[in-house]
Amino acid sequence: MEAHMRFLASDELLGRRTGDAGNRVAARYIAEEFRRLGLKPAGDSGNPAGGNPAGGNYYQPINFERVKSAESATLSMGGEMLQLGKDLVVMAGGPINQTGEVIYVGYGLTDGEDGYKGRDVKGKILIAQGGSPDAKSPREVFQAANAKRKLATEKGAAALVELYAESIPWGFINQYFSREQINLPTDESNTLPIAHLWVNNTGNKYKQLREPGQVITLRSSGRPQSVAPSANVAGIIEGTDPTLKNEYVVLSAHFDHVGVGKQGGSNYQPSDSIFNGARDNAFGTVSILSAAKALMAQRPKRSVLVLAFTGEEVGLLGSKYYAEHPLVPLRQTIFNLNTDGAGYNDTTIISVIGLERTGARAEIEAGAKAFGLGVFAEPAPEQGLFDRSDNVSFAAKGVPAPDISPGFKDFDAAIQKYYHQAIDNPESIDFGYLERFAKAYSHMARLIANRATRPQWVVGDKYEAAGKALYGN
Ligand SMILES: [Zn+2]
Repeated sequence: MEAHMRFLASDELLGRRTGDAGNRVAARYIAEEFRRLGLKPAGDSGNPAGGNPAGGNYYQPINFERVKSAESATLSMGGEMLQLGKDLVVMAGGPINQTGEVIYVGYGLTDGEDGYKGRDVKGKILIAQGGSPDAKSPREVFQAANAKRKLATEKGAAALVELYAESIPWGFINQYFSREQINLPTDESNTLPIAHLWVNNTGNKYKQLREPGQVITLRSSGRPQSVAPSANVAGIIEGTDPTLKNEYVVLSAHFDHVGVGKQGGSNYQPSDSIFNGARDNAFGTVSILSAAKALMAQRPKRSVLVLAFTGEEVGLLGSKYYAEHPLVPLRQTIFNLNTDGAGYNDTTIISVIGLERTGARAEIEAGAKAFGLGVFAEPAPEQGLFDRSDNVSFAAKGVPAPDISPGFKDFDAAIQKYYHQAIDNPESIDFGYLERFAKAYSHMARLIANRATRPQWVVGDKYEAAGKALYGN
């Protein structure tokens, strides 16, 4: 276990950022460990729709889309020039250098009065109100922005400039768009969208942009797009029971982390710019490798799918992709035991997010107890952790899916010291605790895979209906 940890969280893997070489080395390491242990390849390289024979059939390849940040952009009007990184960010699109009259299209979401109103906008620079009449959360603001860009592209506009005054602070927006983004591949991945910029319109300070006849000059380097290949890694331990082996328990952990330097998203020292992600989530990755070994040595009744996810740190993308392209039918997937965490500050316990909700409390507690560990349910409830790791990709489809985290009760200073920090190195890992944790995790998995009945969502849970839809009543 220590060797796995020291390799996966080594400086040489450069923070395992999704789509970078270090990330693919980690995937390779996991796949070859599955091969060494004798897991059945569960990847989709046999699938003509996609596949990577080099993955030796343990890979579920995903060609992510990498969108780099813009190098330059300005918006000039009258005597004023808005600058990139100050009151201007480039959200998407290719390069542009155009002077012309703007057309205001309201929210830019409809053809109605507050939208396009039948105007010819071909080749024009459009000005739109930020957000939408309904958008409140950051996610809704971004969804609205994406819908606007799509519509403006369909209408043949040259560019779209949104007047931003929503709830997410401008400083955060600025920082977010100064980093590269990793997206799931889409049908549109091969075509650059139109130039799409946001102007900081706090206090309505650029209201003149809405005026008819306003002439501006818009220049942007655009955001270069490229393919960032990565893969989920999947292997199966076949169950021993002739009937129950058609049901699967999924053991999962994300193996990606945030990378190096600016991509890491937190401050760092020049002497150590590598975000090693020992706790987040080499710890969980070692745990699923360890469980794979234990369960191969003595196989349980149900089959077990061991899944190492990429793309978690860039928006749970590896598990979202999996949930849309499952390698064994979701209907036959009875449980997901995910392991991921920010770190630990109490090595006498294991923390479980969703313990009471997902119907396997007895097995989880017994697994921990067998290795001298207590179970602490629902740490740091204010963090909303259930919906922040890969387990939610299964939960949303109806599969009961808790997250098993190293021991902590509060998201306190001791956790923040390492969480997404460059000092989250293997040297500071308590290997005795890693061993107890991984063994407890394996034992929980065994007990669940051997259960007489499937675990069920607790009545009234927000994912209970999804479970009924998936499995039938
Ligand atoms: Zn994580």
